[in-house]
Amino acid sequence: MASHIVGYPRMGPKRELKFALESFWDGKSSAEDLEKVATDLRASIWKQMADAGIKYIPSNTFSYYDQVLDTTAMLGAVPDRYSWTGGEINLSTYFSMARGNATVPAMEMTKWFDTNYHFIVPELAPSTKFSYSSHKAINEYKEAKALGVDTVPVLVGPVSYLLLSKAAKGVEKSFSPLSLLSSILPVYKEVIAQLKAAGASWIQFDEPTLVKDLESHQLILTSLSSVTAYGFDLERGTKTLELVKSGFPAGKYLFAGVVDGRNIWADDLAASLATLQSLEAVVGKDKLVVSTSCSLMHTAVDLVNETKLDDEIKSWLAFAAQKVVEVNALAKALAGQKDEAYFSANAAALASRRSSPRVTNEEVQKAIIYFLQATALKGSDHRRATTVSARLDAQQKKLNLPILPTTTIGSFPQTVELRRVRREYKAKKISEEEYTNAIKEEISKVVKIQEELDIDVLVHGEPERNDMVEYFGEQLSGFTFTANGWVQSYGSRCVKPPIIYGDVSRPNPMTVFWSKMAQSMTARPMKGMLTGPVTILNWSFVRNDQPRFETCYQIALAIKKEVEDLEAGGIQVIQIDEAALREGLPLRKSEHAFYLDWAVHSFRITNCGVQDTTQIHTHMCYSNFNDIIQSIINMDADVITIENSRSDEKLLSVFREGVVYGAGIGPGVYDIHSPRIPSKEEIADRVNKMLAVLDTNILWVNPDCGLKTRKYAEVKPALTNMVEAAKQIRAEL
Ligand code: GLN
Ligand code: ZN
Repeated sequence: MASHIVGYPRMGPKRELKFALESFWDGKSSAEDLEKVATDLRASIWKQMADAGIKYIPSNTFSYYDQVLDTTAMLGAVPDRYSWTGGEINLSTYFSMARGNATVPAMEMTKWFDTNYHFIVPELAPSTKFSYSSHKAINEYKEAKALGVDTVPVLVGPVSYLLLSKAAKGVEKSFSPLSLLSSILPVYKEVIAQLKAAGASWIQFDEPTLVKDLESHQLILTSLSSVTAYGFDLERGTKTLELVKSGFPAGKYLFAGVVDGRNIWADDLAASLATLQSLEAVVGKDKLVVSTSCSLMHTAVDLVNETKLDDEIKSWLAFAAQKVVEVNALAKALAGQKDEAYFSANAAALASRRSSPRVTNEEVQKAIIYFLQATALKGSDHRRATTVSARLDAQQKKLNLPILPTTTIGSFPQTVELRRVRREYKAKKISEEEYTNAIKEEISKVVKIQEELDIDVLVHGEPERNDMVEYFGEQLSGFTFTANGWVQSYGSRCVKPPIIYGDVSRPNPMTVFWSKMAQSMTARPMKGMLTGPVTILNWSFVRNDQPRFETCYQIALAIKKEVEDLEAGGIQVIQIDEAALREGLPLRKSEHAFYLDWAVHSFRITNCGVQDTTQIHTHMCYSNFNDIIQSIINMDADVITIENSRSDEKLLSVFREGVVYGAGIGPGVYDIHSPRIPSKEEIADRVNKMLAVLDTNILWVNPDCGLKTRKYAEVKPALTNMVEAAKQIRAEL
């Protein structure tokens, strides 16, 4: 019985590739240095899989930046502005496409399906010429072979490549990149011929777009009859197992993705074995291959490096390196060589997880049951009793804000000094008192700056937080943190999601101390600043032993307590960020409504108990609202601030069309992702354009997002211009 791995993390167990890339980009090391790190990483990964006994080991899943960009390079589909003149694409051209260079901006980046990985979007036109221009796939195949490992080269499939592409600027609307299929296939054929000649007996084409709601013409193109084997994600694809069981083409192999590549939990080996055995009956013993549900690049790398996690929690986990071992153990068990000790250790770990008091918190469970029952009984949807307009009136009586009120999204620049203070406090190198004083001083500085700038609704600047999810996770029970559980987000950037392993509760107030302190420093309203339940959920590794919505409701109840404590502490404006609400949207449209329903409900739970006079803000870091506008309205926030830098007034009209929302809305008036300082005229122009579509009394003036990645030298003049622009327009109205 054979085993297979779809793909493996590239960054290395300690983010070796990240540091090598960044040092190369900074000009601190040579291309040879970078290549050496990459070669060593690839070798160690292949060796690790070979040692574990994996039969089908992938190659070409490594990348200096992104596998879609690698495919663009393979096809020679370099946009004209990078002035590439043909020949093998070198690192300079490759990284210019990925990151831009002194004269040309980077290509667009977007999220890879429903993951947090971002790929570089190919730009195609009817005139794009394709030629075989990166020999990475064959090079990696040969490299592995020289090490004694016969691999399965992995290619982004041609249909997915085109469906993930966009039409280049200036190309007529009717152009569909998919129409270029016959132009790219010759390059694919060359690559395949070369791989075959070098000895490859299998090639893996990743065609993930096939799981989406495709149009029939897109599906016809993808009926690939020459395929020997099909690999399916049996975890996310909830109906895939049934589909396979109801009929599978005779004589084809099934690569059964039973080990979840998206989480960090140890597999339920007994359950997977049972699934595999049932599949054996359908496809035949010799045609079944045990696999992962997707590439392991979406999970953490190796549990071995987690020295701080306690043994109990550790026994519940499996990162990429451990998943490889699981896959192989399942394959051996199917072949009649079950490692009894390994299987019983797994069963024991699962049993301990099921019965651990650390996982189940009776009080939280009772609260949730009571809460769900109350919801059902009262038909309650946890909505504030009054309409948003009535609330805004009540709030305005207390807040007394000018029209076009100005505010910021929360964080202020995070200085080296601040990071040092937090680090030293964590390492217990400075006392609680020293830490509190340092943060207090920072808050006072931020308050003073905002008063000088004459901003209307202030923030405390979030100096005590290094991350908007981690900060709350560390204070909620049911969360744990890894030392090296990094997952690639894009390029060299990685995130380290918290792990939610147990019932979530809030033992103590989390932000009240700082918010009250900040409010005491000013007569202006100070926003309490919280991260919403959906964002905490979507940016964590979530437990898989209960439905996601249940975990989300638990977090919502915890945040609700915080909201109510802030209100009781005299905070009149509370912002609950839902930066990642849209990220959790399922791939299939048929599943959108259910997700949006519980996600939006969770948000409302957090603030349904506050008084009319307490103003609830929410912030979202994206602007493509068109398809979820009804859900945004259903959040029933008093004010929403959103990103708006790349979109136009069309976005705003969404808020008007048919559904005059009535709530305050603050579309970012300038882009905080760039160091550029916007002029007063430019901001005024933006605001005026917004006023053309939105009512004067609902418009807020604020930047796109938090300011933590910017420098004070940028933030001060930018905010000065922002406030002056608002004042000028107020005077003109
Ligand atoms: N309040 C957060 C901040 O300003 C929001 C960050 C975000 O939306 N990503 O940093
Ligand atoms: Zn944001």
